Amino acid sequence: MVFEGLANRLQDTFNRLRGKGKLSESDVKEAMREVRLALLEADVNFKVVKDFVEKVRERAVGQEVLQSLTPGQHVIKIVNEELTALMGGEQAKLAVTKPPTVVMMVGLQGAGKTTHAGKLARLLQKDRKKPLLVACDIYRPAAIKQLQVLGQQLEVEVFSLGDQVSPVEIAKQALHHAKIHGHDYVLVDTAGRLHIDEGLMEELQQVKAEVNPDEILLVVDSMTGQDAVNVAESFHNQLEVTGAILTKLDGDTRGGAALSIRAVTGIPIKFAGIGEKIDAIEPFHPDRMASRILGMGDVLTLIEKAQQNIDKDKAMEMERKLRNADFTLDDFLDQLQQVKQIGPLDQLLGMMPGMNKLKGMQNVNVDDKQIGRVEAIIRSMTPLERIEPKMIDSSRRKRIAKGSGTTVQEINRLLKQFEEMQKMMKQFSGMAKKMKKGKKGK
Ligand code: GDP
Repeated sequence: MVFEGLANRLQDTFNRLRGKGKLSESDVKEAMREVRLALLEADVNFKVVKDFVEKVRERAVGQEVLQSLTPGQHVIKIVNEELTALMGGEQAKLAVTKPPTVVMMVGLQGAGKTTHAGKLARLLQKDRKKPLLVACDIYRPAAIKQLQVLGQQLEVEVFSLGDQVSPVEIAKQALHHAKIHGHDYVLVDTAGRLHIDEGLMEELQQVKAEVNPDEILLVVDSMTGQDAVNVAESFHNQLEVTGAILTKLDGDTRGGAALSIRAVTGIPIKFAGIGEKIDAIEPFHPDRMASRILGMGDVLTLIEKAQQNIDKDKAMEMERKLRNADFTLDDFLDQLQQVKQIGPLDQLLGMMPGMNKLKGMQNVNVDDKQIGRVEAIIRSMTPLERIEPKMIDSSRRKRIAKGSGTTVQEINRLLKQFEEMQKMMKQFSGMAKKMKKGKKGK
């Protein structure tokens, strides 16, 4: 998970603070020393760390905080606010202009430009917009093909003139095409190099001059840490970037780039790339990110993901079943599948309050593979058994284990868990009915 190391360290520090009834200045000082080390270890820019710690310390030693009843909570609140401010405060949204809105994607080779041009197209599509992808990377051999494959997959039109026409000319004709055909967004995928060089910058400046983009999005690989920040500075100096897409955040356990880029360069982070799949992109919300780092979860993103991916009718039906406690193993299977659609489990867990602590614990083994095994077990049962699991005797358990490639122990465990779940649901539904009656009686 992103920020894993930082999150663990900060949470340890704050748990210690929280336990104290009263804070002294030296408690705060000690905590700030730990915060400083944690940020430096997360590869956050040195100067950014210094300013950050100073700001938090100043606010935290105020009388109002030290004398409050919950000083530890107060300090955490301040850190949360300052982390949010560090990453830009408000969410920075993609430009909306009179169509077509022209977005130029720039960045080094391998940062994820082409992939994210596709992901953006997908987001826009979900928003009922009509994007056009433009293949201006004529140097990397497979880039045009890669974009075309993405376009086909998404059913988004890709504009290409092959690799013999200059990027400036391609961009110009693409814009003309978009105007005629009513595209709302033009996403220009430009060439990258392994390092920043003058030739590249000149070409990008020419494309910029030709199409006059509303948005220049810098795509940077967050796993490169402070290098990403340096790259961002160079691009910004030459092109006046309007926003950044931070990619590969799924593999970045430190988070140094995410925490420094805005403070060092002033470029707002607009999106985060969190995987190789086409929908592995999130609008970047500084407040939600801060909350994740501090282990307070990100329930809002979780709900949004659920709303996007879960079938509403099914959800309502499920709710009814839960309320009446007639939930079967088939429903359980159904629910597992819906959860899987929302996203990889470890990312989801990172969004639940306090869950990243739990994840580190042994025995809490909830990975995608585990779900696969549970699915296999349920599928090996007969329809009747799924409704009435009590009828599954020991010889059937052996058969099911064989059929699903699991063990009898796993089947016992699943059935036991399911029984517990049903018991709890019965209790809840009993309570809910009583409450309803109580209300009516009044
Ligand atoms: P470009 O040269 O900048 O166009 O880079 P590409 O779009 O071809 O991406 C380079 C590699 O990074 C590809 O293998 C992508 O699948 C991978 N990649 C891009 N974005 C992400 C991301 O957010 N997470 C992960 N894990 N991989 C990514």
